[in-house]
Amino acid sequence: MKRRLVIIGGGPAGLSAALEANRLGIDDILVVEREADLGGILNQCIHSGFGIHEFGEELTGPEYAARFIEEIKQAPIEIWTSASVVALRPNKQLTVLRHAELIELEAEAVILAMGCRERTAGAISLLGERPSGMYLAGAAQKMINLEGLKLGKTALIYGSGDIGLIMARRLSLEGVEVKGVVEINPVSSGLQRNIAQCLNDFDIPLFLNTRIKQVLGREHLEGVIIEDLVTAEERLIECDMLLLSVGLIPENDLVQSFLPIDGSGKIVVDEDRESLQTGFFACGNVLHVHDIVDDVSEEARLAARGAKHYLVGLTKTERYKVIQGQEVLSLIPQRYVGHSLFEVYLRSKKSLRKATIQLFQGDTLILEKKVPILIPSQLYRLKIPEGIKLEGDITVEIKP
Ligand SMILES: Cc1cc2nc3c(=O)[nH]c(=O)nc-3n(C[C@H](O)[C@H](O)[C@H](O)COP(=O)(O)OP(=O)(O)OC[C@H]3O[C@@H](n4cnc5c(N)ncnc54)[C@H](O)[C@@H]3O)c2cc1C
Repeated sequence: MKRRLVIIGGGPAGLSAALEANRLGIDDILVVEREADLGGILNQCIHSGFGIHEFGEELTGPEYAARFIEEIKQAPIEIWTSASVVALRPNKQLTVLRHAELIELEAEAVILAMGCRERTAGAISLLGERPSGMYLAGAAQKMINLEGLKLGKTALIYGSGDIGLIMARRLSLEGVEVKGVVEINPVSSGLQRNIAQCLNDFDIPLFLNTRIKQVLGREHLEGVIIEDLVTAEERLIECDMLLLSVGLIPENDLVQSFLPIDGSGKIVVDEDRESLQTGFFACGNVLHVHDIVDDVSEEARLAARGAKHYLVGLTKTERYKVIQGQEVLSLIPQRYVGHSLFEVYLRSKKSLRKATIQLFQGDTLILEKKVPILIPSQLYRLKIPEGIKLEGDITVEIKP
């Protein structure tokens, strides 16, 4: 079966890419979604805080998704739900598992929008058994918000990223005593607004520079021992639930064998979000983990525009490198063609106050931007202004 454009994933990235592709006149668009419903991770995010940029109002996750789903249902876009892409090959042939049947597809262009998954306990070193009562934070969110389950009475959360913070509040609202959020780093990796609204408003302590040393209990969790990394002081916290919120990994397994991936595990793309294998595009959390969904929707439109250019046969000239310089943890895109203005999305290695972001072409400084604060957990968008002519490899650096 031949298809012009196949979009893998029906979360906010896939939905926005599909709508933009349709708006640009691409016909024969197919969205393949593994779950029974469209919407991706948004379906379990019943808190508000979505859509401030996209719609100018604060929506819950399902409300944000619904705006796109309603529109997509009116558009000539084919949707397959409960359908998983199980194989994808460099020639854009896909195998889809749908209703216990394997379907072979051949796409002209593919947009990857598979989101990300949570890092598991295996990715961090924790002494002790693996008793029941330990959950990944996102999985617990799904069980509580979508399945109405009660998971325990007293909880500790490991990792102060946004998911950990949001779950601290969610558990408190469910009547669970949240004994604290433990963070190994000296600063939280969550948004400031989430620290205020999810921890401070509920008097939940944040233990910075602290690690979980040991998990106690054989059959069921009985408590954990935490260790202050500055004073080496240890403390027992009794709890029957431990939520792990220790990072997200782009779900790019389908393409890892043939698409170039950078040192931080991200698919290498240009400003159109096209990978180094032409006709493959990536957007949303499968490319890099986004803090806010509005950025995901916006990035997906870039990928759809790129797919349109590819499908009408526009060829690209040489792609130059965007090099990750001093103090830069990661950046997107890692290549650029230079036919349009673009933004570099970057994260700093450290938390910095009054930093300067510099852009060099060779040894020549071509752009400098002062920023009051940079935090590794928060994406910074550096817009390359009109009038700056880029040619050749460029390097982005952060000066503390
Ligand atoms: C707990 C939590 C709280 C958040 N809170 C906020 C907030 O308050 N405000 C905000 O703006 N943002 C928030 N975000 C961020 C935002 O929700 C995400 O950035 C966004 O949902 C990512 O969209 P996506 O489409 O890239 O990925 P996803 O939403 O994960 O969608 C990916 C989709 O791809 C499907 N898929 C994967 N593999 C396959 C395959 N092989 N075949 C078919 N389908 C496949 C999945 O089933 C899924 O539906 C939060 C995120 C989380 C996890």
